[in-house]
Amino acid sequence: MRLLVLLVLLFCSCSHGAENLYERSFHSMGSTVELKFYSPSEELFHRVVDACVERTKEIDRLFSNYRDDSVLAEVNRNSGVRPVSVPEEFLNLVRISVNYSEITDGAFDITIGSLFELWRAETVAGRLPEKSRIRDVFGCTGFRKIKIDETKSQIFLDGNCVRLDFGAIGKGYAVDEMARIAKKNGITRGLVNFGGNIYAMSSPAGKKFWDVEVRKPGSGNQIISNIDLVNKGVATSGDYERYFEHAGKRYSHIIDPRTGWPAGDVTSVVAVSKTATEADVFSTAVSVLGLPGAQTFVRRNKSLGFLVIGKKGEEKSCFGSYVCP
Ligand code: ADP
Ligand code: MG
Repeated sequence: MRLLVLLVLLFCSCSHGAENLYERSFHSMGSTVELKFYSPSEELFHRVVDACVERTKEIDRLFSNYRDDSVLAEVNRNSGVRPVSVPEEFLNLVRISVNYSEITDGAFDITIGSLFELWRAETVAGRLPEKSRIRDVFGCTGFRKIKIDETKSQIFLDGNCVRLDFGAIGKGYAVDEMARIAKKNGITRGLVNFGGNIYAMSSPAGKKFWDVEVRKPGSGNQIISNIDLVNKGVATSGDYERYFEHAGKRYSHIIDPRTGWPAGDVTSVVAVSKTATEADVFSTAVSVLGLPGAQTFVRRNKSLGFLVIGKKGEEKSCFGSYVCP
């Protein structure tokens, strides 16, 4: 018996020692996925990355708002018309999203689609939306308009103009799925980065953490902060990379569901949490609610941490598990 234990231990340490770091990138959903995995073989590494590529394609077929044949497109087309039968995975992310709407006091809300589209279309046309239009489209928003029939696996959007939009959770969700696939295949040490939505798995051999560089979105290479991460997700939301523009003024692509206007109190938010999905959600929610939101969320959930960069782009505040740079 003792010999068996010894053999197992020897085997474990040998295989750890033989792990090498491999890296590969691919494009998905208009962004880049970067995978860094410690793997015992190059063959396993590429097999796992191929599975991740397939998984992101599946996620895109379910949740993309850039294609007419996604499940999301069908649900949105039938807003106010009829309930739509959806795959369990779709239903599950809707359930998770509604739960996050409740936890974030409505700051994160996937029914933002119609308001987002109004702001996008009007600013592209060189105007700001009229106040009366914002008021009208405001009526198409609110997570309580999502009706789930658990027994039939159906979703009904209550109102003919409700549009779901997974833009603030989809990438984080895809990151967690890729980390799960890696773990299932025996890869435990790695870093998954999907356009700034990151999950740090177990650390490299001999190190306690992954040293993650958080970069200012859209700024090329400017580093906002370095954080030590292990088994945690991180996400950044901000008005650097994606924004609406009118008369030389930038408007955030994050809409405040309470007012129908783009969020305006902070420039950028870095959120750390136990999953990449949760970090993605909370970086958006704190972009809406600002410093008081960060304060409230870290009080309620000890695993959360935030770095909030203020309106002038300089002043930094840190909350919860986030140690200020
Ligand atoms: P990024 O796109 O920079 O990663 P986010 O994760 O914050 O930023 O996602 C922003 C996207 O989420 C928007 O482009 C839009 O599709 C959607 N969105 C905007 N406002 C909200 C909101 N209040 N709640 C949920 N989703 C939102
Ligand atoms: Mg987000």
